[in-house]
Amino acid sequence: MTTKDPGREGGQQLCWCCGRKFSEAEVLRLGARPEAGVCVNCTISLRRRARERMAESQGTWSRWQARILRRGQECIMEHRWHERPVIGPANIH
Ligand SMILES: [Zn+2]
Repeated sequence: MTTKDPGREGGQQLCWCCGRKFSEAEVLRLGARPEAGVCVNCTISLRRRARERMAESQGTWSRWQARILRRGQECIMEHRWHERPVIGPANIH
């Protein structure tokens, strides 16, 4: 019986979200499916999408807040301000 991890290739872990390869230290494992890993960048993106989905089921105010937050994050990333030492690395939740 083989127990080869389908997400692991040559010592690198395949992100089950974006499909790119990462070292084990850069991947978070899913609790119920430890063979599945998601890279840190995708966990941030997934969290943002989850927040927006939750806001959709709530009132107009929550949807508006989610949209403003997303636009602010996109603006920061677009201008690469997250790479500036004064602001620091992206740690957007
Ligand atoms: Zn990923």
